[in-house]
Amino acid sequence: MSFTRSTVGMPEDQAYLLHHFACPSCSAAGITPGTQQRCATGAALWAQYQGAYNAREHAERSAPAAQLKSTR
Ligand SMILES: [Zn+2]
Repeated sequence: MSFTRSTVGMPEDQAYLLHHFACPSCSAAGITPGTQQRCATGAALWAQYQGAYNAREHAERSAPAAQLKSTR
């Protein structure tokens, strides 16, 4: 998982990052994936973030860039 241009500026991205940097559990989970648990709030934000990321990825793959711009 990496932060790409596709996710920068998304509300889900900002909500997760705001929580992430304020929460020791979620910071640790981000540094060492698979060994730490996110807190309940962080896990919910992370799920939203991943859902939004996947939706964005799917939209970018299935629509030409010009078309995407005109719909936003
Ligand atoms: Zn957290």
